[in-house]
Amino acid sequence: MSNEESPGGPSTYRLVIDGQHTDAESGRTYRSIDPYTGQEWAEVPDASAADVDRAVAAARRALNGPWGRLTATARGQLLWRFAEILVDEADALAELEVRDGGKLLREMSGQMAGLPAYYRYYAGLADKIEGSVVPTDKPDYFVYTRHEPVGVVGAITPWNSPLLLLTWKLAAGLAAGCTFVVKPSDHTPVSTLAFARLFEKAGFPPGVVNVVTGWGPETGAALAAHPGVDRIAFTGSNATGIKVGQAATANLTRFSLELGGKSAQVVFPDADLDAAANGVVAGVFAATGQTCLAGSRLIVHESVAADLVKRVTDRAASIKLGDPRDPATEMGPVSNEEQYRKVLSYFDVAREEGAVVAHGAEAAEELGGYFVRPTVLTGVRPGMRVVEEEVFGPVLTVSTFTDEDEAIAAANGTPYGLAGSVWTKDVHRAHRVADRLRAGTVWVNAYRAVAPHVPFGGMGASGIGRENGIDAVRDFTETKAVWVELTGNTRDPFTLG
Ligand code: NAD
Repeated sequence: MSNEESPGGPSTYRLVIDGQHTDAESGRTYRSIDPYTGQEWAEVPDASAADVDRAVAAARRALNGPWGRLTATARGQLLWRFAEILVDEADALAELEVRDGGKLLREMSGQMAGLPAYYRYYAGLADKIEGSVVPTDKPDYFVYTRHEPVGVVGAITPWNSPLLLLTWKLAAGLAAGCTFVVKPSDHTPVSTLAFARLFEKAGFPPGVVNVVTGWGPETGAALAAHPGVDRIAFTGSNATGIKVGQAATANLTRFSLELGGKSAQVVFPDADLDAAANGVVAGVFAATGQTCLAGSRLIVHESVAADLVKRVTDRAASIKLGDPRDPATEMGPVSNEEQYRKVLSYFDVAREEGAVVAHGAEAAEELGGYFVRPTVLTGVRPGMRVVEEEVFGPVLTVSTFTDEDEAIAAANGTPYGLAGSVWTKDVHRAHRVADRLRAGTVWVNAYRAVAPHVPFGGMGASGIGRENGIDAVRDFTETKAVWVELTGNTRDPFTLG
C-alpha cells in the first residue's frame, strides 16, 4: 500500500487528482482520529472548491480522452485487473479502515475480501450494455438506441463502510464508462486515498478516479453543486442527502441517494427463535449498529416476546467489546466522537419517553474510547423518537403484536423503507409478509446479506435509486435514440414525424 509514512508522526496522504498525488492548493491539512485509541493517526489534505475544480476537470479530460476512447471490452478487462490487485491489497485496506473507522478487523477483512467480486461482476457487464433496434410506426426510418456514459460522477460516501459503499458506485459506473471524483467522509478519508492509487496500478488512465478529502459542508458541497458534474451518487444521512439532492437539482444533475433506515425484524410465533435471536443480534449489534440496514426494531408476536427478548438480551450481555483488531472482539467502538455523543443522547431520550432498559443504555467507560453497551429497549410505543429515528448505533427497540396486520402496520410505521426481515417457517406467510413490507430489501429467516448481483436501495425516506445488480449499470448511462432516414427524400417540414 503506497503511503508516505512520517517518522514519529502521523502517516500523511495526498489527494489523487489526474493520476498525481497532490496537496490541497491551500496547503491545508487535517488529522484523522483512530476511534479506538482516540489518537490522531493520519494527516490528509483539506481540499477546497479549487481542488474540486481540478479534480472535476481531470475527470472530464479522462472522459473525453483516453478513457472515453476505450472499448467496453477494454474497460471490462481493466476492471478485472483491478479486482486481481484488490485481492492482494485487501488486508492492507482492511487495516486502514479499522484505523479510521474502528470497525472490527475481522469484519473489514471479510468486506475487503468481498470487494473484488463487485469489480468482476461489473467487468463482465461492461460489454453487455447494449442498445436496441426500435420498430416504430414511422415508415422508412431505422431507429436504434445507445446507452452512453452519463459522464463525470461525483461520489460522496459515509464513514461506516467507506470502500464497500464506494464500490457500489464505482464498479457499475466505471463499467458504464463514467469517470469519478470521490469525496469520502471527513471521519474516514484514508482508505479511499490509498484505494484510488490502485487504479493506476491496474493501468487505468489518469483522471478516471480522483479523490478529494475534506469537510462535508465545504468539499462535499462544492462537489454536489459543481456544474461540471453530470451525476451525483450519494450515501449518507437524510439531512445531508436532501441538501445534496437540492444542490444537484439546481444544475439538473442526475442523482441517487442511499440514505438511512429504521428497519424492522418481524418475528412470528412459529419462527426458529434461536435463528431469529441470532439474526436480531447480527442486524443491530454487528458493526456496532452503524449500518444503514441495521434491523433496529424488533417486532415480535406477544406469545414469544419474553422468550426471544431473553435470548437477545443474554447474547447482548455476553458480547465482547474491545480492540477492533483482536479476533475475539465482537463489538468495537462507535466510529467517532460526534456519533458517540449522538448514541448516548438517545439513551436519555429513551428513558424520558418511558422505554424500559432491558440491557445496556450506557457508555462502557471502563474501556476508554467511544464504547457503548449493546442496548435493548422494551416497552416502546409508536411515536417515540427512539422508535422512529435512526440512532445508527447498537440500540434495539422491541414492540409486540397480536396479528399479522398489526405487525405489518408497525413495520411500515416509519418514513424509512430500506430493509426488513420476516422470521417464520410458514412459507405462505413468509411471501405474504415480504410482499407487504415497504422496504427495498426483505430477508426471510436471514439478515444482513448483500451481493453484487442483487439491487440495494431504499423506498420512501431511505433514498432514491438502487445500487448493485444489472440495472445499476444503466443508472450510469444516458439513453440516446438515433433516427436514420432511409429514403433520402425531402419530407413535409410542417408535419411531425
Ligand atoms: P453524512 O450525511 O454526515 O455524511 C455523508 C457524506 O456527505 C460525507 O462524505 C460528508 O462529508 C458529506 N457531506 C456532509 N455535508 C455535506 C454537504 N453539505 N454537501 C455535500 N456533502 C456533504 O452521513 P454519515 O454520518 O457519514 O453516514 C451515516 C449515514 O449514512 C446514516 O444515516 C446511514 O444510514 C447512511 N448510510 C446509508 C447507506 C445506504 O446504502 N442506504 C449505507 C451506509 C450509510
